Amino acid sequence: YLKLEGIRKQFGDTTVLNNVNLDIREGDLVTLLGPSGCGKSTLLRCIAGLTDLDGGQIWLDSKDIVSLPPRNREIGMVFQSYALFPNLTVSENIQYGMKMRGASREARCKRSDELLELIDLGDKRDAYPQHLSGGQQQRVALARSLAVQPKVLLLDEPLSALDAKIRKNLRTEIRDIQKKFNMTTIFVTHDQEEALILSDRVCLMNKGRIVQQGTPEELYTAPRTEFVAQFMGSYN
Ligand code: ATP
Ligand code: MG
Repeated sequence: YLKLEGIRKQFGDTTVLNNVNLDIREGDLVTLLGPSGCGKSTLLRCIAGLTDLDGGQIWLDSKDIVSLPPRNREIGMVFQSYALFPNLTVSENIQYGMKMRGASREARCKRSDELLELIDLGDKRDAYPQHLSGGQQQRVALARSLAVQPKVLLLDEPLSALDAKIRKNLRTEIRDIQKKFNMTTIFVTHDQEEALILSDRVCLMNKGRIVQQGTPEELYTAPRTEFVAQFMGSYN
């Protein structure tokens, strides 16, 4: 469904992504794990079209999307820091992408109301982002990226700025929403436990390469290298 083939990316002399291949089935949630600087965010940005590739192909639904501009890729992305528009209300934030795509006011309001209900923030529709908690802001960011009905959702450490309790609640919420929409999702996290709990498949990266991918159980119980074992905490 989403297929990455031979993805390469360099910044100057540094190879940041080195022949990355990845196959994701429709509706799966894949967590992307790996040490800081291994290329996780760069990979997501390449898929979203925010960074140009130096080589490789990205197939979505059997279509090569590499040459498409970001807004035509049907990919939604949520970042670590809540990047909501501060001068727009919650409801206007959610409707923003639909407005850009020419959706009618009626369609926008209907969709935004549905999503507000889904994230349980109906009473905040006219509030501005600075009056929301971090967890609430991330739920709005999630709703905003779902509003345009993307085929793929990319989540780059969406929970890392939140405290532990909110983080645990929100990750379950994200998983529920992801399943409900059967949304193909790549979820970047530093947290092995999160990866083991949440995902259909786990993909572990190191130094610009994917070192092992499989089910959470496979990576945990059958690590192929010392690095995988250590990273997954298999010895604990
Ligand atoms: P973290 O877990 O800390 O978020 P990451 O796996 O997301 O790390 P990336 O942000 O993808 O890592 O960065 C991978 C490498 O690419 C790093 O060495 C980083 O310094 C480098 N890099 C990223 N963006 C740029 C850029 N715009 N220009 C130059 N180097 C960059
Ligand atoms: Mg990153």
